Amino acid sequence: MALNLIVLGPPGAGKGTQASQFAAEHRVPKISTGDILRDAIQAGTELGRKAQATMDTGRLVSDDVMIGIVRDRLSRPDTAPGFVLDGFPRTVTQAVALDEMLAGRPPLIVVDIRVADDELVRRLQARRVCSRCGTNADATDLRQTTCSRCGGPLEQRSDDAEHVVRERLRVYARDTKPLVEYYQRRPTFRSIDGSLSPEQVARALRAAVESALPHRPAGEAVRSGAEG
Ligand code: AMP
Repeated sequence: MALNLIVLGPPGAGKGTQASQFAAEHRVPKISTGDILRDAIQAGTELGRKAQATMDTGRLVSDDVMIGIVRDRLSRPDTAPGFVLDGFPRTVTQAVALDEMLAGRPPLIVVDIRVADDELVRRLQARRVCSRCGTNADATDLRQTTCSRCGGPLEQRSDDAEHVVRERLRVYARDTKPLVEYYQRRPTFRSIDGSLSPEQVARALRAAVESALPHRPAGEAVRSGAEG
């Protein structure tokens, strides 16, 4: 059965890292709306030009634009075995539109990664991203200036500047936190502690998804790349 997963959580909770790893393990596409917008900025498209101004303030791109992007992406055949959504939905309007888009598909599993605000500010301030391959650097070693994966230069994301981070956290509390209320009464909603190490959070995410999946016949495990 298709594995349709949303990873929710504030900026800096580790959603992107966890969503990438989980999607690779389960061989389903990771759909990150932030990455789609950053790609559009790099490519210099009209969408990119419009999105950049909004992203640089820490605010949200309009629901209409984001819903259109995700509708297009989810209509591609590679999402038939499932997908991991990272950064979408960000508002209740987007969540309602997503439910409509997915009518008739297997139920959404929603995992909320929780982290305290002080820790989020600390992590986002320290975050460095490779400008060539997009990998997040180890935030514990700020002396590192090149990517350990491809050797590209590490940079701070322009929206990780402190005043933008504060605005992103305000926007999250106002617009995105209500999503937890929107989803939490569903039997496929789970909440995990994101303050632990990335490995521990990955284990908690796997366990949460496993426990939220509809009952499968004994012996049928979640499809995993690690199992070959
Ligand atoms: P992210 O990489 O998910 O932190 O997203 C970076 C920025 O892209 C956000 O601060 C928003 O400005 C914009 N963005 C990404 N996803 C969405 C979305 N679903 N709705 C509105 N804006 C978004």
